[in-house]
Amino acid sequence: MSSAQYSAKEMLPGVFHIFDSLGVHLTLLVGEKRALLFDAGYGAHDLPAFIRTLTSLPYEVVLSHVHHDHALGAIHFERVYLHRNDWDLLPTYTGAFQRQRVVERAGLTAAHNEAYLNAPFPAVEDMPETAFDLGGMTAQPLFAPGHTPGSVALLVKERGLLLLGDCWNPQTWVFFPEALPVRQYAKTFHSLMSKPFTHALAPHTDTLLTRDFLLKYDKGLNEKGFASAKPFIIAGQEHLPTLAYEPTPGSLLVFRQP
Ligand SMILES: [Zn+2]
Repeated sequence: MSSAQYSAKEMLPGVFHIFDSLGVHLTLLVGEKRALLFDAGYGAHDLPAFIRTLTSLPYEVVLSHVHHDHALGAIHFERVYLHRNDWDLLPTYTGAFQRQRVVERAGLTAAHNEAYLNAPFPAVEDMPETAFDLGGMTAQPLFAPGHTPGSVALLVKERGLLLLGDCWNPQTWVFFPEALPVRQYAKTFHSLMSKPFTHALAPHTDTLLTRDFLLKYDKGLNEKGFASAKPFIIAGQEHLPTLAYEPTPGSLLVFRQP
């Protein structure tokens, strides 16, 4: 399925990795009775219309964390789940400043811009501790503080699947002011690796990751690695003292100088 702004690929039965053309993925889980959308992308276009091309079931919207590229699409819905530790950051990441940046990139009409800039953010509910039951498929939230204080991963045990949110990406960022210290991030990542999964999906890549690959990355999250990290400048974030190294080849961890 695809439109000009969204496209989807079924990675596992009932698991659609959706590409938002502004540059991020969201994941739709379709059970027998309900569906669940994990993250909402930038939301500059009609996301609910695209979801309807994939399922006619009712669905919940669950945000992995508060950052704008995952959360702004929530404006299309009436209610979303977000871990309470990220609530204080909502004005920063879903307010006028971030929306204006999206508008400048999205090439929308003036009327559409107006609607996007003024749409209210929906009611926000705290992340439940129990699993979402979709009928023949469950999604268990896993509290995963690090990238942000309220980051959450999802375990879909019937598919042996872990949805990582921004806990891992080809370039993993743990340097924003709200990020936890790198050792706490490493502890969180290590605990995620103890869960029963064989494959994983991340928002900033279109490939299905293997457990083996993520275990290698996890093994590289250690003192020797942290000490080997070199200064690494992120465009637009030059003011932040960032360091980086590869816990495993091809996978870069960027973190704030401790
Ligand atoms: Zn993020």
